[in-house]
Amino acid sequence: MTRRIRIAHLYPDHMNIYGDRGNIVALRQRCLWRGIACDVLLVGPGATVDWSGIDIAFFGGGQDSGQALIAEDFLERQGPALRAAIDDGLVMLAICGGYQLLGHYFLTHTGQRLPGVGALDVYTVGGKERLIGNVVIETEPTLCGAPLRLVGFENHSGRTYLGAGVRPLGRVLVGHGNNGEDRTEGAVYRNTIGCYLHGALLPKNPQLADHLIAVALQRRYGDASALVPLDDALELAAQQVMVERMLLRD
Ligand code: GLN
Repeated sequence: MTRRIRIAHLYPDHMNIYGDRGNIVALRQRCLWRGIACDVLLVGPGATVDWSGIDIAFFGGGQDSGQALIAEDFLERQGPALRAAIDDGLVMLAICGGYQLLGHYFLTHTGQRLPGVGALDVYTVGGKERLIGNVVIETEPTLCGAPLRLVGFENHSGRTYLGAGVRPLGRVLVGHGNNGEDRTEGAVYRNTIGCYLHGALLPKNPQLADHLIAVALQRRYGDASALVPLDDALELAAQQVMVERMLLRD
């Protein structure tokens, strides 16, 4: 039986900066290389989604203006059902602006309050200075079985603060992370990850891409067998160069 992964890409026309779409490319290609079929459903304003048919949801980053255009639609159309799916263990990755809208709210630096769907126990407040640059984080060991060093690029005015209902994705080794103060980066709740790492994140960090695919397969097919390894020599070498360059510079 061919296994199939269905990805929902939220608001791809409004929320796609710094190569975030590359995350979809990486997920899809890593499935196809292994003979796993993969469909991508584009979810724009006004769309209705049967979240029970979705294995991985992806929500990229955007400018404050892009977020303002879709925040209400996201809250009203997707909010309750997506929140329930996340509570049920849906695999989801949300970057920057998408991460902020998964939280309780984003108060922009101009004072506009964009409501979030409250699926993640975080809130975000915009600051005058943007937090920009390359980032290296170390994930907590429980995420993928061992700590991973992930690389990415951040550019946000929002400072995100975590509540008790989430745990950080990792600890900032280089860069600003969630808020530039507490050295945390990202948030994890069940199988949903929000974080500030553009890049695109998954092509740069194939271990995380495979983690998401493996959890999605496990949920859909109860398939605990390890994913067929791919030749990631180039990706891992690039990741390592970046980690070393950033750590040495800091
Ligand atoms: N507009 C948001 C902020 O500046 C998100 C930015 C982004 O997605 N890169 O914080």
